Amino acid sequence: MAIRNIVKMGDPILRKVCKPVTQFDGKLASLLDDLKDTLHKAEGLGLAAPQVGILKRVCIVEYEDAYYELVNPVLISSSGSCKDNEGCLSVPGFRGIVERPQFIEVEYFDRAGEKHRVQAEGYFARVFLHEMDHLDGILFADKMIRKIVDR
Ligand code: ZN
Repeated sequence: MAIRNIVKMGDPILRKVCKPVTQFDGKLASLLDDLKDTLHKAEGLGLAAPQVGILKRVCIVEYEDAYYELVNPVLISSSGSCKDNEGCLSVPGFRGIVERPQFIEVEYFDRAGEKHRVQAEGYFARVFLHEMDHLDGILFADKMIRKIVDR
C-alpha cells in the first residue's frame, strides 16, 4: 500500500479515455489499495485511477459510511436532476455548481471480478458520476454552470 501522487488539471493524462480492466489480479488489488490510501490522505470523497496516472476504468467512492470499489463501472439508468457544488482533488482552487441526475443505478465489478449493482441518490450519486466522468477524461470544470472560487 502506498500514497500515490495526484495528477492536476492541465496534465493530458486526465483527458484520456481509460481502458477496461481485463485482469482481476494482484496489480488491480494494489491499485485499489493505493487509491484508498491516497484518498484518505487527501480527504476526498472519491478518486479515479487516471488521477494517479493509471488509464484504467477503476475508481473508488467513499461517502458517509459507504465505501465502493468500482471496476469497469457502467451507468445503467438515471433520473431526475439536481444542482449542487462539487470539487476535485485534481482541480485545486475552485469548486463549481454542476447539474447531475438525482437517482442513478450503476453496474460494476469488484476486485475479484464479481458483478454488482448499486443505486445511489443525491450527493452520493453525484460522487459516483464525478468519478465515472474521470474515466472518460471529463472534469467537473467542463460541466459546471457556475464557478465558486475558494476564499
Ligand atoms: Zn475529480
